[in-house]
Amino acid sequence: MAFPDITPELKALMPDLRGRLLANEPLAPFTWLRVGGPAQVLFTPADVEDLAYFLARLPAEIPLMPLGLASNMIIRDGGVPGVVIRFSPRSFGRIAVEPGHRIRTGAFATDRKVAQEAAEAGIGGLEFLYGIPGSIGGALRMNAGTRSNTNPEIEGETAERFVEAKAVTRAGEIITLDRAAMGFVYRGCGVAPDTIFVEALLEGFPRAPESIHAVNARVQEHRERDQETKVRTAGSTFKNPPGHSAWRLVRDAGGLDLRFGQAEMSRKHANFLIAHDGATAADIEALGEEIRRRVKAGQGIDLEWEVKRVGISLPSQA
Ligand SMILES: Cc1cc2nc3c(=O)[nH]c(=O)nc-3n(C[C@H](O)[C@H](O)[C@H](O)COP(=O)(O)OP(=O)(O)OC[C@H]3O[C@@H](n4cnc5c(N)ncnc54)[C@H](O)[C@@H]3O)c2cc1C
Repeated sequence: MAFPDITPELKALMPDLRGRLLANEPLAPFTWLRVGGPAQVLFTPADVEDLAYFLARLPAEIPLMPLGLASNMIIRDGGVPGVVIRFSPRSFGRIAVEPGHRIRTGAFATDRKVAQEAAEAGIGGLEFLYGIPGSIGGALRMNAGTRSNTNPEIEGETAERFVEAKAVTRAGEIITLDRAAMGFVYRGCGVAPDTIFVEALLEGFPRAPESIHAVNARVQEHRERDQETKVRTAGSTFKNPPGHSAWRLVRDAGGLDLRFGQAEMSRKHANFLIAHDGATAADIEALGEEIRRRVKAGQGIDLEWEVKRVGISLPSQA
């Protein structure tokens, strides 16, 4: 399916744009699940000012969606109408250590790289980021974090280390957000979905680099032991409902015996879905919805998707 090409109109509205606009650009290669259709327009801003210029001139009726590393996303098979923003690591991936055990990072820096830089600089408290395969923009939006029943030193949440973020609003205004403005909640935040984070300032505490490296190694061990690391997944599929573990609800609802096309749940971690070769977004979503239906029917609990599902659905062939 192809969308109408609106890039000529956009270019005419924005003669001084320096970033790149592409029509009908496939998104699957940018995602962890490797499924889904194209973006009607994919915009790669040259820098923050270019992003602000673009947004100030983008007609209000055109939908907008930022993409991080798409490790928490199902792009549906019909693609995403409107504009999808994807950053370049060169302009949005910079990381700088600041006094006071702080780290300033572009929104497209990877969580792992930020954790590594923190380790080198003797900044503790960011170890949890080492095992999360997203970008800092995605970590702010999702309040990314890790819980462990067995090892508290590998736990943490973005909100705990947050000082401030820089963002560009849908109207093209560059703003700074403090903690209250972020409205962090469990795996989410209250900032408008079309506000784009471009930078974060995070603060840790003094800790010897060798201790941090040791914790990072344990984060890695935990991931390899308890989670899927070698197949295509999007991490935790559902949020943990208060007082429950999503993986247990999935297992008890018979989720491990289901297969939709080439999509199934992981036997290693029942809340991780797996996209085998040939899986479609429709297969994956249908699997998730069937599990939600069973958990509701069996336990009376509403499982909420943690993975973001975006774009236009096409019917499942499974
Ligand atoms: C193997 C695996 C393990 C995982 N483990 C964990 C874990 O332990 N803990 C955890 O919390 N998550 C985990 N995840 C999920 C995922 O890595 C996190 O949610 C991560 O924070 C998403 O970042 P991203 O850059 O990939 O965002 P994306 O998936 O690209 O986007 C997620 C959301 O953030 C928005 N977004 C992205 N960038 C920006 C930006 N710059 N400004 C505004 N909005 C933005 C998107 O529009 C979307 O709504 C895991 C995923 C995988 C595949």
